[in-house]
Amino acid sequence: MEILDGKIASQAVKEALKQEVSLLKTSGKRAPHLVAILVGNNGASETYVASKVKNCAEIGFESTLIRLEETVAEAELLATIEKANTDDNVDGILVQLPLPKQISEQKVIEAINPKKDVDGFHPVSVGKLVQGLETFIPATPYGIMLMLEHYNIPTKGKHAVVIGRSNIVGRPMSVLLSSNHPYGNCTVTICHSQTANLKEICLQGDIIVAALGRAEFVKADMVKPGAVVIDVGITRVEDASAKKGYRIKGDVAFDEVAPKASYITPVPGGVGLMTIAGLLKNTLQAYKSR
Ligand code: NAP
Repeated sequence: MEILDGKIASQAVKEALKQEVSLLKTSGKRAPHLVAILVGNNGASETYVASKVKNCAEIGFESTLIRLEETVAEAELLATIEKANTDDNVDGILVQLPLPKQISEQKVIEAINPKKDVDGFHPVSVGKLVQGLETFIPATPYGIMLMLEHYNIPTKGKHAVVIGRSNIVGRPMSVLLSSNHPYGNCTVTICHSQTANLKEICLQGDIIVAALGRAEFVKADMVKPGAVVIDVGITRVEDASAKKGYRIKGDVAFDEVAPKASYITPVPGGVGLMTIAGLLKNTLQAYKSR
């Protein structure tokens, strides 16, 4: 069994980006600029956005964090997005999800200029992805593809089982793995909460991508020996013995699944770090295409 280490793979992506930005700057050009909008004080969202901003700084990107109150009106958020849409110095815009109840996430996603849609959630980006056109790929599935590439994991002709059909992870992941791409060309089964015989389907998977958000859901008896196991889940599980009062758990019961797998991603230290790498690559792509 080999660990697919998000720290190593994301560092490799970030080094390459850093060199590209450095070349841009020495030739007198401005750095790529990401605007991140954070609404409210959700603990997990704070952590994710802080990490995105820190990573931008590490590789020489400019970033601006816009904070809005939990009670902000939808119209004000939409106006903030519009300002960034029309600002020539902004290449990428992301609005950290989830949003408070008074705001429609769909409206917000559709308000972002598709040319700056570095999260890849806009229907235009999704449509292009499905049609195999160049576009912004949602950061988490993109990060997983970069991980497969970094470790040169063979995917052609394999059966991939994706658990979860969300617009941000499961569905785009299934599209990428089934597409005609060096790290695609899988036969994909996509599972969800209404899937019958999930265990039997998982047992057929040469590659399993677990993205359902249920801590340690995938057990050893659901995994075929030698499978590649990609764990997307991030769930805070209360634990009084932990410093913060909780521990982060993935969707895979790592200790029992790892000995059966050929490759496996840990949580933390796996897909989460690759998600940021995907976002940074999208931001550079947005910069270049403008
Ligand atoms: P989501 O929107 O809640 O979607 C979860 C999906 O899993 C849904 O399609 C749901 O089916 C399915 N599901 C739920 N329970 C199931 C069950 N018992 N059996 C089979 N399928 C089941 O979640 P998400 O946004 O995709 O995120 C999934 C997990 O990944 C979460 O833990 C999230 O925190 C994590 N995440 C991590 C990263 C990262 O960077 N590592 C990024 C994004 C998300 P239905 O459609 O039928 O409801």
